[in-house]
Amino acid sequence: MKRRQILAAAGVGLAATALAGCKQEAETAGKPQAGADTETFNWKMVTSWPKNFPGVGVGAERFATLVNEMSNGRLKVKVYAAGELVPALEVFDAVSRGTAEMGHGAPYYWKGKVPAAQFFCALPFGPNAQEMNAWLHKGGGMQLWEETYKPFGVLPIACGATGVQTAGWFNKEINGVDDFNGLKMRTPGLGGEVLTKMGGTVVNMPAGEIFTALQTGAIDATEWIGPYNDQALGLHKAAKYYYTPGWQEPNVTFELDINIKAWETLPADLQAIVRAAARDVNGDMLDDYNAKNMEAMEQLKSEGVEVRRLPDEVLAKLKVVAAEVVDASAAADPVASKVWAQQKAYLQRLYDYAESNEKDIYNIRG
Ligand code: CA
Repeated sequence: MKRRQILAAAGVGLAATALAGCKQEAETAGKPQAGADTETFNWKMVTSWPKNFPGVGVGAERFATLVNEMSNGRLKVKVYAAGELVPALEVFDAVSRGTAEMGHGAPYYWKGKVPAAQFFCALPFGPNAQEMNAWLHKGGGMQLWEETYKPFGVLPIACGATGVQTAGWFNKEINGVDDFNGLKMRTPGLGGEVLTKMGGTVVNMPAGEIFTALQTGAIDATEWIGPYNDQALGLHKAAKYYYTPGWQEPNVTFELDINIKAWETLPADLQAIVRAAARDVNGDMLDDYNAKNMEAMEQLKSEGVEVRRLPDEVLAKLKVVAAEVVDASAAADPVASKVWAQQKAYLQRLYDYAESNEKDIYNIRG
């Protein structure tokens, strides 16, 4: 062999050896646990939503479909609408006690049991979706959320966001702060506590009962989510005025609840699939809300719905009361107190940043 041929042959040999080495490493690293790729899991997911409800309910369905597809059918998730297996507001309990392996709901629905839960969900005059997501995923929020739910045997994963909501549907005009006196309104979470301090009465109920309550006069007002979902419930047919902005919920983050004992039986690849699918739904739902809220608002206005802005005086008062309510609510519970101390400081940094740049663009852009 000529010298050049010898070198070429040696080169090929070296390359082949190197490739074989890589292949071996890859096989070792990606090797599934024994039996992990054949075992099939059939899980139940209870939800707080009516069947195929736009936005949030569809998001829960999308999560189940994604997990089924990504796992090639090894983790099948069957979605139950509110009331099919457990009532809407008992999703967290059902997952905690293992009636269902998974649940999808809004953290503040269980504030009676877990007062700190609402801080992972919505704060009046609080973070928008991108700020909430930054805190949860990059600012220590998820760790605090996991700590909060651990005593209940539940693993939380953020799974959906609404973006800015609306102030809601009213059959009474709001012209000043006194108009909240005696107002009977459906609004959960800390926003509800603010309403109580403003002299109103909070009546909470799941989505399926809101329309009738408003139509019969059992409540004077309700907020639900935003134009897209509110239109789906037909609230515009039961109220005179649609008020903005959604001071009580500049965003609501939804949660995937997972029973920790069930979670621990899943192989690592299925756990990774669950996390990836939830992350996908978390972003996709926000995109869906942004697009569909715009379309629904256009349609509601074209049908003659009277959209009103809450007066400045009212918003200013709500903001003062909201700050007191949030602080007091945190102070009343040691876990909430710990969460809020960290969250408040982090959010202030995000707000300062938004003030210095992002807010300016919105104001100028119009
Ligand atoms: Ca709401």
